[in-house]
Parts: sequence; C-alpha cells; structure tokens
Amino acid sequence: MAQVDVLFAGYVGDRVAGTVTLVRSGDRVIVVDPGMVPERAAILQPMFDLGVQPRDVTDVVLSHHHPDHTVNIALFPEDARVHDHWAVYTRDVWDSRPAEGVALTPEVRLLETPGHTPQDISTVVETDDGVVVLTHLWWNGDIAPDPKAVDGDAVRRNRGRVLEIASLIVPGHGAAFAAADAPVWT
Ligand SMILES: [Zn+2]
Ligand SMILES: [Zn+2]
Repeated sequence: MAQVDVLFAGYVGDRVAGTVTLVRSGDRVIVVDPGMVPERAAILQPMFDLGVQPRDVTDVVLSHHHPDHTVNIALFPEDARVHDHWAVYTRDVWDSRPAEGVALTPEVRLLETPGHTPQDISTVVETDDGVVVLTHLWWNGDIAPDPKAVDGDAVRRNRGRVLEIASLIVPGHGAAFAAADAPVWT
C-alpha cells in the first residue's frame, strides 16, 4: 500500500508556508505541493530522514497554481512529471488532460476539486490506515471558511465529496487531521 509522510506542516499568519507531503507508491516517489517553507531544508531534511533523495522523486503534484504551493518544484529532477488540473508537464512537453480520475498508481489518483481557485485538485491515496486526501479544500483543522475562495459553494460541495471517501485530510496549511474532525463551513 502507499505511504504518506507529511514533510512539512504549513501555517498561515504573519508568515505563510504550505504543507508539503511525500507519497510513496510502487516505484513512484511523489511530492505534493513543494511550496513556500522557511528554508529548503524544511523539505529536504525530512526526506533524507526517510531515506529519500530529491533525485528519487518521479512526480510532483500541484494542488493549484499559487506560489505558496509551487515555488520549490525545481528541487526535483527535470524529468519528473508535474501534474496539475489540466496537464502533465515534463521538460518542455505540455501534455493536456483533465485531472479527474487520473491514476498515478493503482493507489494514488487525482480529483478535480475547484473552489479555492478554478484550478484545484486533490490527491487521493489508499494506505493501510485508510484513504488519505491531500487537498487545499481546508487550510487547516481549525479554520472552517476559505476566506480567499473564488467559489465558496464549490468548496463546500467538494468538501462533501472528499469527506465521503477520506479518513485523513492533509490540508493546505496545517497538520493532518481526521476527516471526522473536519471543520464545517456552514
Ligand atoms: Zn491558494
Ligand atoms: Zn495555500
């Protein structure tokens, strides 16, 4: 089964950092949202501690296009596949495809979950501990609304979709939390 390790739990406040996550599934080594962190070592050292080198990374998934989730893509190999809502990018090849239902491995697939921006996707991972969903639909386990959402109704609708399948949520700017404890935006 796939393994999920949060490399860095993001935050928002005076400063902002994104949650950066490593997913290992079969022969794929996937980094989700290599974005803003206080220093690059905040991503790299936890990888080293897991026995993973940056050159081992085969895929990068971007939850959406904001820099706080993307600025550190180039830490990883130039032939890594970069996945977003509408394409896969490798070197100078832009391979358009919708993300909905795309499977990176039998255990890792993408869902289109817009609302924060029109470009949001969530990464769904089957693990021994249940289904983990990496998503910016929540900023963290405490903040219920998305104050920056371009479409709050879409966020709420897509949260419902995710909660139907998730046991654990890895949010955009915080530590993982149980889906049962997800804050509700009424
Ligand atoms: Zn954003
Ligand atoms: Zn964000």
